[in-house]
Amino acid sequence: MAQFPYSIENLIAELSNLPGVGRKTAERYVFYLLKRPKNQLEKLCSAISQLQKQIFICPQCGNFSEQNSLCAICASDKRDRQTLCLVAESHDLIVIESTAEYRGLYHVLGGTINPIDGITEEQLNIRKLLERLKNEKITEVIFALNPDLAGEATTIYLKKLLTPFNVKLTRLARGLPMGADLEYADEITLGSAIKGRRDV
Ligand SMILES: [Zn+2]
Repeated sequence: MAQFPYSIENLIAELSNLPGVGRKTAERYVFYLLKRPKNQLEKLCSAISQLQKQIFICPQCGNFSEQNSLCAICASDKRDRQTLCLVAESHDLIVIESTAEYRGLYHVLGGTINPIDGITEEQLNIRKLLERLKNEKITEVIFALNPDLAGEATTIYLKKLLTPFNVKLTRLARGLPMGADLEYADEITLGSAIKGRRDV
């Protein structure tokens, strides 16, 4: 099969690794980029390289941080430090923040237990969660995981693990459709799901 020059093939291969991007889409992106003015390509390159240099993982909650220390939420003195909201990914945290209904802290698991994708509990940020429950004055943990099979499996697993800590375990109210992604829930639905949370 005929191949494009190496630099083009190389970028196509890299972009094809992105979620939802197949080879055809990657090719379209590369040929679009080739037609852009040089300074725009430089801007894109520097935005990507800044991701690597300027973004750190918060040692407390696992969220992204702009400094090599606590993220803005963990460092803030305006948050309720007794409530911890468990999310699978940092982008779920952003969605919950956008509802302005929640003022507590977060813990980012880094995924949910999903045997099909090969994600097991060992790969999740659980050890730090247990440490936090031991050392911080947390009285409630809210499970804000996607209402799908992996979210349920993770909730069941963690419920067992967290019960001995004697904290209130709650989950978002129903109203989010089964199989839905928090990411796509509108702010009002998600906001009322937080307010109407119930026991796990
Ligand atoms: Zn943090």
